[in-house]
Amino acid sequence: MINRWRRLFGVDLGIDLGTANTLVCVQGEGIVLNEPSIVAVQNGTNRVLNGGCAVGTLAKQMVGRTPSSIHAVRPLRDGVIIDFELCEAMLRYFIRKARKRRWGIRPRVIIAVPSGITPVERRAVLNSAERAGARQVFLIQEPKAAGIGAGLPIAEPMASMVCDIGGGTTEVAVLSLGDIVVSRSLRIAGDEMDQAIIEYLKRHYALRTGEPMAERLKIEIGSAYPLERELTAEVRGLDLISGLPRKATVTSEEIREALSEPVMAIIDAVKGTLEQCDPELAADLVDNGLVLAGGGALLRGIDRQMSEQCGVPVRLTETPLTTVAQGTAICLEHLDEWRSTLESGDEDV
Ligand code: ADP
Ligand code: MG
Repeated sequence: MINRWRRLFGVDLGIDLGTANTLVCVQGEGIVLNEPSIVAVQNGTNRVLNGGCAVGTLAKQMVGRTPSSIHAVRPLRDGVIIDFELCEAMLRYFIRKARKRRWGIRPRVIIAVPSGITPVERRAVLNSAERAGARQVFLIQEPKAAGIGAGLPIAEPMASMVCDIGGGTTEVAVLSLGDIVVSRSLRIAGDEMDQAIIEYLKRHYALRTGEPMAERLKIEIGSAYPLERELTAEVRGLDLISGLPRKATVTSEEIREALSEPVMAIIDAVKGTLEQCDPELAADLVDNGLVLAGGGALLRGIDRQMSEQCGVPVRLTETPLTTVAQGTAICLEHLDEWRSTLESGDEDV
């Protein structure tokens, strides 16, 4: 009865607390919110603008169109929580927004967090979600949620492997019997690729560009493996010497060269993780290969490059940007099954 009631009102939430994007799904409804993990604050303070509402898409819109006294903060920038207060404000806003027009029992919430965050940070996330109105909070390590979201048989006595390339962090993990056997978390992912492009344009074109332009180039023509038809794109920036705006045309070969360092660092992490595996598990992976998730998985040819370098099959999940969120949704549906393997806020409060 309780279950039917709960289902009827769909109050349980799954949250992918990403360094670049936060996604929230409601049990039975799928993803209801997908916004950048950004808050806008007044310079020198920790107060979120608009009475706590300058979060996500709205915050992104405000930044750049408002006086310079306002700036954007990404509370989870490098895969660590750089500001607890702002992280809590963001989480609170997203939970409230996802529960819009809902009443009755407070939600149970499953939050996928980067596996590299410290126990103090994990506790901060648990507390934040409780203060934001959750009845019960569970944390799931992000690679595990990715494995579940990708439909991998992670509960089986067989190795599955995921590599989730997000904004701030790349998480690599080998899973078996429902848990992480070996894992690595490195702070090289999409943001670092953008920085590599910024550096390249400075060095080779004497052009100063911002992160949004670099990200656009990466998405439009970026690659990790030679393309069948190489591409070009126009880039606008400021001339390093004259300080004046200028345009240039760059090729996909150049951007690939710019990206080679972060891409290789990610591939090395995958290799290192494979090398750490027991021979039995490694044998499974030779056949099963690994699955790529996260926005960075969308970089052209990264699957092929990784597969050639690591010697195992590599494929992308169906929708890399939403895999982790889908994993949390599946966990919610089968909470009884997964409960014992999740960290919850109940044990030591
Ligand atoms: P997080 O889980 O850390 O929030 P996401 O999985 O949402 O990160 O991925 C965000 C990253 O993916 C950003 O760095 C973004 O630039 C990058 N990204 C998104 N789409 C593409 C694409 N088509 N090609 C390359 N990178 C992409
Ligand atoms: Mg992510």
